[in-house]
Amino acid sequence: EKNFLEVDKLQTAFQTDKGEVISVEEVSFQLRPGETIGIVGESGCGKSVTSLSLMRLLGHSGVIKKGSITFNGRDLTKATEAEMRSIRGNEISMIFQEPMTSLNPVFTVGNQMLELINLHMKLPAKEARAYAVEMLTKVGIPRASEIIDEYPHKLSGGMRQRVMIAMALSCKPKLLIADEPTTALDVTIQAQILELMKKLRDESNTAIMIISHDLGVIAEMADKVIVMYAGQVVEEADVFTLFDDPKHPYTKGLMDSIPHLEHDSDQRLFSIPGTVPTIHNMPKGCRFHTRCQYATEKCAHEKPPLLPIQPESDHRVRCWLQQDDPHRAPIQPRTEV
Ligand code: SF4
Ligand code: MG
Repeated sequence: EKNFLEVDKLQTAFQTDKGEVISVEEVSFQLRPGETIGIVGESGCGKSVTSLSLMRLLGHSGVIKKGSITFNGRDLTKATEAEMRSIRGNEISMIFQEPMTSLNPVFTVGNQMLELINLHMKLPAKEARAYAVEMLTKVGIPRASEIIDEYPHKLSGGMRQRVMIAMALSCKPKLLIADEPTTALDVTIQAQILELMKKLRDESNTAIMIISHDLGVIAEMADKVIVMYAGQVVEEADVFTLFDDPKHPYTKGLMDSIPHLEHDSDQRLFSIPGTVPTIHNMPKGCRFHTRCQYATEKCAHEKPPLLPIQPESDHRVRCWLQQDDPHRAPIQPRTEV
């Protein structure tokens, strides 16, 4: 099947009290029906801004400056707000890390599901309710015909996330964007939710864009992966190649890092010293040079392009190491200190 989503050199900026800052730069990727792309990186690397750009949910201060987002032949960067409203929740659905912020506490689960279903499917009331119960059952909610009349705060975190998934999938979206969908959940529930997303993807050929700082989640779900650092794609490859043969020093660092014990933490213990530069303070040249043990003079001054590791390869890397001498020995895995 051919691509139905093509993001081309997306650039998103925000107005801040310190002036305009570019948050995401030159992000490009394609997606086919049923395919899953993983976007991985630390907090603040631009993964969420990328997905919010797709949904055009950037708030008042955010704006897409350059590039295009072609979805089913339409450029979403040029769509009207009314067109976007009909696309959101219908053709593209989104689930977030903390469902409490996206579920309205003053309405029951059923009220919220039915509002969405009515907006997009126009079923008679009784059928709409039956359909909502069916969707809740499908995502593994027991006693769905009772749970549907509960308020969100009565449910556990795992149950709320299931409700969000049921809502996100009830309109049979072509694309599901899942931003840290399991980060707030304990490992058992996390595994169940990921299984569920895979099952629903395989049943309905939904494409998934999964955003996570957790490489385990990415490995479990994605067909292909883009690694982001400081607002840029630094490496992209199919999931096997990326895990088997990472080329970018940052990707290597991610793979060597150990997640914090608190499962809700968006932080990892990096084997690389330093932190992600802020958007107000971007290093010149390679944005990773301040943390890279392979950095040279050139890295500090010249911005590396994202290029295939070999002509025609889908494995692309933004690093001078790869480009200046492709025959040099691969980066050796770090040894524990
Ligand atoms: Fe490190 Fe230089 Fe490659 Fe940047 S371009 S990742 S600083 S070696
Ligand atoms: Mg985020």
